[in-house]
Amino acid sequence: VAGLGLGKKPESQKPEADDTHDTANPAEASLLMKIIRQGLVESKLDIEIQRKDPNSPLYSVKTFEALHLKPNLLKGVYDMGFNAPSKIQETALPTLLADPPQNMIAQSQSGTGKTAAFVLAMLSRVDPTKNYPQVLCLSPTYELAIQTGEVAARMAKFCPEIKMKYAIRGEELPKGTKINSHILIGTPGKMLDWGVKFGMFDLNKIKVFVLDEADVMIDRQGHQDQCIRIHKCLPQTCQMMFFSATYDSAVMGFAEAIVPNPIIIRLLREEESLDNIKQYYVKCKNAEDKYRAICNIYGVITVGQAIIFCHTRKTASWLSEKMSRDGHSVAVLSGELTVDQRIAVLDRFRGGVEKVLITTNVLSRGIDVEQVTLVVNFDMPMDINKKADCETYLHRIGRTGRFGKAGIAINLVDSPQAMEICLDIEAHFGKKINLLDIEDAEEIE
Ligand code: ADP
Repeated sequence: VAGLGLGKKPESQKPEADDTHDTANPAEASLLMKIIRQGLVESKLDIEIQRKDPNSPLYSVKTFEALHLKPNLLKGVYDMGFNAPSKIQETALPTLLADPPQNMIAQSQSGTGKTAAFVLAMLSRVDPTKNYPQVLCLSPTYELAIQTGEVAARMAKFCPEIKMKYAIRGEELPKGTKINSHILIGTPGKMLDWGVKFGMFDLNKIKVFVLDEADVMIDRQGHQDQCIRIHKCLPQTCQMMFFSATYDSAVMGFAEAIVPNPIIIRLLREEESLDNIKQYYVKCKNAEDKYRAICNIYGVITVGQAIIFCHTRKTASWLSEKMSRDGHSVAVLSGELTVDQRIAVLDRFRGGVEKVLITTNVLSRGIDVEQVTLVVNFDMPMDINKKADCETYLHRIGRTGRFGKAGIAINLVDSPQAMEICLDIEAHFGKKINLLDIEDAEEIE
């Protein structure tokens, strides 16, 4: 890695303070998901393909050999433990590697193998005998750029002739530098500075342009504008690769502005469902009473691991202190933690060091930890108008096919407003949420 000049580790960064209500910041959420994930997210669903030009050949591969990669690149792929292409890779890779090059827009949820796919394409398109940048890869943040760079460095382990460089904050080059690396991975601002403002490389010589995490990118208007400015300086022949975890009109509008004549491939997300979840609510008078409810539940049922969602950081820390004092091993994940600290908390929880994870809305979705059998809404999920937030409820409680094991969800209701939210959620999903008499909790097992 050091030889590629890509040895940098993310600096610990404090997320912006936001009094006590945590909201899931898309870039941070995406980074956390990447870091805590172990391996591919498999899908039983089929790929959806749209192409503008019906004459363009389209095929899929079942093996990496079938792609006729450079031997040392293939070796790198196998060295990463990849045996066969993931579902999205089966279809994306032949197109990304095709000659003449084809443009692609690919959408699939995080963890399905998009990064590995475009990194492989970037590496195979490089001509290492020409010492100037040929591939640009834009990521929305410093940390996400580093994640991609680390994948590239691992995959290029046996290709020391390929030189890569980060274009991110903290990387400074003296005026007049001509960059001789083949691949630049970075954020739009720095890339614009180096390429357009300082002329440190020739945008007209770029063969491959990758836009990663496009949905996170457009979250900031400034980024979108910078991407478009860079894009304007690229040659017509440049191959465009556009990746996103979501597919809405804002993302697609951005995609159309950047990617002419694309092949569009999508892998739909497996739906979360409440089918195997037993849902209950418990009537409580106040926070103390809610705490007592949790203790009662623990007294009665054998819980694998549990996640408890609170509305504010203050409640989360209050609850964790109380639970720890009573001898529970709890972890807290909330917005004031640095990215590194969040990763550490999640790693420990995954490893089973703590049995209970107390969290605010920093996790937009529940985390895919199979051992989690109990989810508690200490506070009901609500939107800014204080109405039921059904989508968040589903993300917290629901399971996809993969983790379709049975689970228990308990909603702690301590006001008429909370009761109303609970009833709205019940009506929305058409799934009964039963009253649980906590003094008589045997019935839930
Ligand atoms: P995405 O970019 O869609 O979030 P990644 O490319 O980061 O997905 O892949 C998710 C995880 O799966 C990573 O840990 C990666 O190393 C692994 N992975 C990717 N492709 C394969 C494959 N073909 N076989 C096995 N694991 C893979």
